[in-house]
Amino acid sequence: MNRNDALFGKTESELLEVSNKLGMPRYAAKQIAGWLYKKKILSVDEMTNLSAVSRKKLGKEYDLGLSGFSEARVSSDGTKKYLFPVQNGMFVEAAYIPERNRNTLCLSTQVGCRWGCDFCMTGKQGFTGNLSAGEIINQLQSLPEKENVTNIVYMGMGEPLDNLEEVLKSLEILTSEWGYAMSPRRITVSTIGITGKVSRFLKESNCHLAVSLHTPFEDERMSIMPVEKVHPLEKVLEEIRGFDIDNQRRISFEYIVFGDMNHSNRHASKLAEILKGIKCRINLIPYNPLPGSTLEEPYSEAVEKFRDTLIKKGVFSTIRKSRGRDISAACGLLSTKNRGDRAE
Ligand code: SAH
Ligand code: SF4
Repeated sequence: MNRNDALFGKTESELLEVSNKLGMPRYAAKQIAGWLYKKKILSVDEMTNLSAVSRKKLGKEYDLGLSGFSEARVSSDGTKKYLFPVQNGMFVEAAYIPERNRNTLCLSTQVGCRWGCDFCMTGKQGFTGNLSAGEIINQLQSLPEKENVTNIVYMGMGEPLDNLEEVLKSLEILTSEWGYAMSPRRITVSTIGITGKVSRFLKESNCHLAVSLHTPFEDERMSIMPVEKVHPLEKVLEEIRGFDIDNQRRISFEYIVFGDMNHSNRHASKLAEILKGIKCRINLIPYNPLPGSTLEEPYSEAVEKFRDTLIKKGVFSTIRKSRGRDISAACGLLSTKNRGDRAE
């Protein structure tokens, strides 16, 4: 039996190829997409509006491709962290963050990450694999709270623009009418800033973009983010400036505030200078310390003062509350390294 391919994660046009190959009617592709992305089924047999013959053929050639979580942890603040198995015995983590007026799913795009930022646990893990579009969306589809999710952020493990094809495919499935029909205004993709790929993302998707900035000074950025050597922030900002961003779309910059490093007046002035001409906001994230890290956590007063200084300088800024720290679900703490990357 040739059961090697997963249906889940295929776009409507890919499903059309499948239905053509199996001699099914044209409209079957839309029906299959409906079963995959608008319902919660566990086997091809449940696609009851397909003919019995079609179902049999489909089930013989394809797997549904869904996998349930293998572990869940709940934080004292209500945040939940799920471990999902992916290809080759590897795992990724996803976090569900309930708030008063929104419920956000933070999902992963890679197992580990190649960029090795000094402050990030996923970076310490190193890169071991890209997720397929199906594996990315499975983190929503197989989430117990799926029906309650209002917003999705691509801010879990990995660098989304290093896995751009699969990320774009997953966004197409999430935002298309035949898929989840989610508004692109409820989805944010976070990137460290990969030149060339930022503009491609802006062209090929309507979702919001968040760029991890962390300091406006090149030498300082280089000291904590090796990416600065290869994809300098200056070039990334140039790329964003060159793009006509429509009013509905949001560009934001993430800015981890460390204990005694990147929240001086000098930083605020430089930020205002380099972001001039880009309609954007800055999300300040108080540093979540890694075990053994020499970087320090900031005082909350310092973060508030920095926010106020930025606002005075004309840079709209907010502070992101840390969630799920006690279960290592907060920004930068996701890692599956202790899973040995691979199951036995
Ligand atoms: N690779 C992408 C997306 C995943 S990281 C990126 O870097 O943007 C998601 C966010 O968490 C990024 O803004 C990242 O800088 C931030 N982050 C990483 N480690 C952190 C830590 N220890 N404390 C607070 N935020 C952290
Ligand atoms: Fe990778 Fe983002 Fe972590 Fe840097 S912060 S190591 S880019 S996941």
